[in-house]
Amino acid sequence: MSENRIRYECEMIQDLLPLYQDNVCSSSSKKIVEEHVTDCENCRKMLQLLRSTAYEEVLEKEKNAVLDTHVKKEKRRSMTIGLTMAGILMIPVIVCLICNLAIGHALDWFFIVLASLLLVASITVLPLLVYEKRALWTILGFMGSLILLLLVCCIYCKGNWFLLAAVPTILGLSIVFMPYIIYQVYLPKALKNKKGLLVMIWDTLWLYAVIFVCGLYSTHTDYWRVSLQITTFSILLPWAIFLCIRYVPVHPMTRAGLVTMVTGVFVSVVNEITNGIVDGNIHIRMLDADFSRWDTIEVVNGNVMLIILLSALGIGICFISIGVVLSKRKRAKSL
Ligand SMILES: [Zn+2]
Repeated sequence: MSENRIRYECEMIQDLLPLYQDNVCSSSSKKIVEEHVTDCENCRKMLQLLRSTAYEEVLEKEKNAVLDTHVKKEKRRSMTIGLTMAGILMIPVIVCLICNLAIGHALDWFFIVLASLLLVASITVLPLLVYEKRALWTILGFMGSLILLLLVCCIYCKGNWFLLAAVPTILGLSIVFMPYIIYQVYLPKALKNKKGLLVMIWDTLWLYAVIFVCGLYSTHTDYWRVSLQITTFSILLPWAIFLCIRYVPVHPMTRAGLVTMVTGVFVSVVNEITNGIVDGNIHIRMLDADFSRWDTIEVVNGNVMLIILLSALGIGICFISIGVVLSKRKRAKSL
């Protein structure tokens, strides 16, 4: 009977505990709770637990509030600095606007100043004004304003070289920044794990665009055949290395071996093949190799090329053997 009574009282007290903790119960309830917890260990522990979790919650809330104000403060500060810098950059813009109008009675070189200062703003003001994907927007802003500057300069000097400057610039910037950009932009699900492939295709297309644009300006009769053949042959190596590293399902050591061998073969014949494409006569220097003679330049060249090829093949075979052994060991372990 008495045990039942205690359990009944404990349940009642435990219902009251949250109210007691928040200090919203009547003074009589408060007194009952206090009296009960001095005698009942179980309920006392419950109250302590309630206190500590309440304390943690308060701490968490305070921490978040502090971080929040800090972030807001930082954002406001960088916004102020950004706008100040934009204001400073506006001074030369306005001065040049007035000068150009006063001296030339028209706006021409003013646009060059404007585009140059936009380029400056893209790497100074822009990062301070955006909060999400800051690096991505800075890179895109920089690329855009650089191309704009080229366009404005080309128009100002009535040149026809804009594409000749812009397309190789985009190729160069793409090679440097595309591997980073691809991770920052939204990609549909089907393309998410094909980032490397996308970068390779993008860079290859821009490389051909460069060849195409140069062709528009070239007067050489054999330009298209020579340039397209040499370009296509040259990008075989980066594509072979990429496909090997990304898609050949073997041990990384084996892949390293394959890449070394492919590179060795490519390097040992690249000069002859590109020269051959130009003058229509492919002569493989390695065929002149003779290790018992080092007298003529042809034989020395042939010997050196053969040594390069043999070393690459040897190192490659070593890597491949190590890879095969390691993957066999791994498989044995997993079994
Ligand atoms: Zn109790």
